[in-house]
Amino acid sequence: MKIQPDEISSILKEKINNFKFEIDIAETGKVVQVGDGIARVYGMENVMAGEMIEFPGNVVGMALNLEEDNVGCIIFGETRKIKEGDIAKRTKRILQVPVGESLLGRVVNSLGQPLDGKGIIKAKEHHPVERKALGVIQRQPVKEPLQTGLKSIDSMIPIGRGQRELIIGDRQTGKTAIAIDTIINQKDTDVICIYVAIGQKKSSVAKIVKILENYGAMDYSIIVIASASESASLRYLAPYTGCTMGEYFRDKGKHAVIIYDDLSKHAVSYRELSLLLRRPPGREAYPGDVFYLHSRLLERASKLNDELGGGSLTALPIIETQADDITAYIPTNVISITDGQIYLGSRLFYSGIRPAINAGLSVSRVGGNAQIKAMKNVTGQLRVDLAQYAELEAFSKFGSDLDKATQAQLRRGERLMEILKQGQYSPLPVAKQIFIIFIANEGYLDKIEIGDVKKVEEELYSTLDSEYKEFMKSLTKEKLTDETKDAMRKICEKVLSKF
Ligand code: ATP
Ligand code: MG
Repeated sequence: MKIQPDEISSILKEKINNFKFEIDIAETGKVVQVGDGIARVYGMENVMAGEMIEFPGNVVGMALNLEEDNVGCIIFGETRKIKEGDIAKRTKRILQVPVGESLLGRVVNSLGQPLDGKGIIKAKEHHPVERKALGVIQRQPVKEPLQTGLKSIDSMIPIGRGQRELIIGDRQTGKTAIAIDTIINQKDTDVICIYVAIGQKKSSVAKIVKILENYGAMDYSIIVIASASESASLRYLAPYTGCTMGEYFRDKGKHAVIIYDDLSKHAVSYRELSLLLRRPPGREAYPGDVFYLHSRLLERASKLNDELGGGSLTALPIIETQADDITAYIPTNVISITDGQIYLGSRLFYSGIRPAINAGLSVSRVGGNAQIKAMKNVTGQLRVDLAQYAELEAFSKFGSDLDKATQAQLRRGERLMEILKQGQYSPLPVAKQIFIIFIANEGYLDKIEIGDVKKVEEELYSTLDSEYKEFMKSLTKEKLTDETKDAMRKICEKVLSKF
């Protein structure tokens, strides 16, 4: 059978007459280009910045660039499933993640999906990942301490609940170790811990999860992972996801601490996304809004006022420096956003001072208000003695004859440095910290050989545990009175008599 030309034209005419736009250009769009975790979509005229976008095959994306003729989306998941010409749909809501108690003990990805094989997460609520930080009126100054269990931090660089304290240092200087010890130390307190691993090896995060499980710390923790093998978009999202989960507890009047490990890798992921989205590069090729990237994240940490329940979200961001350069772009940005920094030095670390905290460069700008009184009583002296020691130590290396007073100061300094050393996974209750710093300040350790200081410390702790439980409980309640001090001296003399 042959088709007549006028038959064809009538079929075409009918088709054209019945033609309707099958897609609604305002609500949906067509993929015009896809690759490297980015899709450019034509259409979706009503889309909002940060809106969740649905692609075929259950792939989720987020609209980041709203341009005149297209929408630039980042894709969470497999880009390969998306083809040119596919339809992308608006969801009319900002990207949301599950929040709530059901996440405790779980390991999730940046979208809040489980990675631990423990089944689906039955979250009652979902909250948007991007939220405006609370204003001044809704907040109050920090007033409760967040004990890390590390002697050098709790004494000299105290952290308050709701504070943002940066942990900064070169690679392999014990940054993660501080964070993990802090999580372990929150056992039997009311603080919930969230650990966000950005751009790390899956194996190292698996090790951390195992350690937390062994110490019984997973029960009150959430782990968010966006590993090095994942797409830059997931690494970009991870800290906001963790923060949203933390805010849930804060808004319920509870306390939470969140660790971002680390924000250097987060900035690099964002740079990658921005360059792929063809945003103009600025200093070190980072986009212009890389400061806002971290400031809007860290501003969400806060201590709420009493009308709002008095909850808190403490943030401990981590930054990795190169060759101890804290004046590079991203480190200076984050230093200026946070309320202080814990500076870890590689030279200290290799000389055996661990945690390798450089007391001179580390500060906590607000945590002092939250420090318990008894601790405050002993740390003033500690800081002065350590500063003097640092000065004298350099100069004593010349081997000149030193007078008695200088020798005594050096002796004291060495012993203080010795007691501030602390192994991993052994956070110390604050009462014991006060005790050991007190007796070092009083000079009881000066006569002890440096090699025996650790033994004295252990002996002291075991004596305190077995005989002075009640006394230790009372120690943290108020400031150190003369009576308490006398009692402490007596206990100390008793312990030292064995040496
Ligand atoms: P990275 O840059 O790779 O993330 P990091 O700065 O997070 O490293 P960690 O992984 O915490 O450093 O620690 C580096 C190594 O030092 C680990 O092997 C850890 O076990 C060891 N370490 C950290 N803190 C201590 C400590 N207080 N005592 C003994 N060893 C420690
Ligand atoms: Mg680390």
